[in-house]
Amino acid sequence: MGLVVFDTFANVVDGKLVSTASTRHGINPATLEPLPPVPVSTRETVHDAVAAAKLAASGWAETPLNERQQRVVQFADALASQAGDFAKMLTLEQGKPLSAARDEVAQAVRVLKGVANLTLPEQLIEDTERRRVMTRYVPVGVCVGIVPWNFPIYLATVKLGPALVAGNPIIMKPSPFTPYCGLKLVELAQRFFPPGVVQVLSGDDNLGPWLTADPGVDKVSFTGSTATGIKVMQSCAQTLKRVTLELGGNDPAIICSDVDIATVAPKVAHLALYNSGQVCVAIKRVYVHSSIYKDFVAAMVRHIKSLVVGDGMDAASVLGPVQNVMQYQKLKNMVASIKSDNLNVSAGDIEGAFPDRKGYFMNPIVVDNPPDDSEIVSEEPFGPVFPVMQWDTEEEVIRRANSTSAGLGASVWSNDSSQASRIANQLQAGNVWINCHQEIQPNASFGGHKQSGIGSELGLEGLKAYCNVQTVYHDKGGSCRL
Ligand code: NAD
Repeated sequence: MGLVVFDTFANVVDGKLVSTASTRHGINPATLEPLPPVPVSTRETVHDAVAAAKLAASGWAETPLNERQQRVVQFADALASQAGDFAKMLTLEQGKPLSAARDEVAQAVRVLKGVANLTLPEQLIEDTERRRVMTRYVPVGVCVGIVPWNFPIYLATVKLGPALVAGNPIIMKPSPFTPYCGLKLVELAQRFFPPGVVQVLSGDDNLGPWLTADPGVDKVSFTGSTATGIKVMQSCAQTLKRVTLELGGNDPAIICSDVDIATVAPKVAHLALYNSGQVCVAIKRVYVHSSIYKDFVAAMVRHIKSLVVGDGMDAASVLGPVQNVMQYQKLKNMVASIKSDNLNVSAGDIEGAFPDRKGYFMNPIVVDNPPDDSEIVSEEPFGPVFPVMQWDTEEEVIRRANSTSAGLGASVWSNDSSQASRIANQLQAGNVWINCHQEIQPNASFGGHKQSGIGSELGLEGLKAYCNVQTVYHDKGGSCRL
């Protein structure tokens, strides 16, 4: 089997590589060098892709489940066999260190294989002499997967895998900031799926709204910010499309008094700063019990000082650049407000946060005990900066942890499992972790409460989200009321 070559980048429509009249390009965030040209799709490109998906839909839906699952596994194996090429491209376009890029590809492979292991249940409600009543799950139809720029490969497979296993065609739309791996992923998929089943379109800011408005699309699965998620849902409402929204988070981590500081503090700092903090389920608020606050913060600061910020292609780099100029400016504004509010900083320094070098680099900052209503606590920074606060009573810390419109993830860290469970059971989030954070697996649902999302991805719930529910009543004679 040949490999995909990372030299030119095209849309994939109806099984063919297609270019467009105009092109644009991404930027390597570590060097600010332009990356190769990518298509700018038009309304016509969208119509072509939706038409091809509609044509492919019934054939794919009728393909037996075990064959669909096998093809997804073969696709995963092909991705694994080209992991090095995908990882390199990912670092160039997204900025993350090469080792983290390899981890992302490995995670994508795991997701595809894990999802291919799931089977949709059929529920026999009644089976009597009179009738048989059964509820089953049927493919929802033409799907669109809209992906952000923080995990362009992994988050694409989280949509591709379940859509395909459930029997649907899907059109992928990568972020304009990181289109390259998304385009190649779907090019690679062409070896395993019939034309029109897996397609990808790159474009500018018009493309997402065109796709969500298209009446030929039956379901949109969107991952991105809460503000955009609201627009996606409004647009989908016009034709009552099914929507799954995976949105922003503001995850709290509650650190109890009995933790082993030497092990837990570096872990918590790592989980706040991984991918330079650009993770929907990064730890974004750390609440430390007041009896250990000073020592815990000191241990986090020691760890953070050891982290090298640099180009992801450099093996020494642990934290890559911020991915794009828009996010970089947002972080600059947030750091300016930390300064103007005179908040204390325990790691990093405000003046040196943005080093004077080429690239969107930011040195990590920990804000020491800011007020609960400060921007750094109430807003999702999505960068290498986070607040650490003190708590005294469980009732108080649970209230503070829950006092946000976000509800994606939350964690409790304690050696006392009854205390940990007691706190965990009161947290308002779709993912609650004890002594860990950011753990996600393909056979478990992942989703947000409150304004962090609608519905969930992965697990059986995620697979069902790519289906319509259908109840079949089979009258065996005489039970029909009319
Ligand atoms: P974003 O909302 O700006 O963009 C996400 C995607 O939506 C991009 O592909 C973009 O081109 C597209 N888009 C923009 N406007 C659109 C519109 N009107 N209609 C349709 N599509 C549109 O988000 P981002 O800045 O790329 O990503 C960062 C955000 O994503 C953060 O808030 C983060 O927490 C969140 N996120 C959530 C999860 C999750 O699983 N819950 C995972 C990763 C990131």
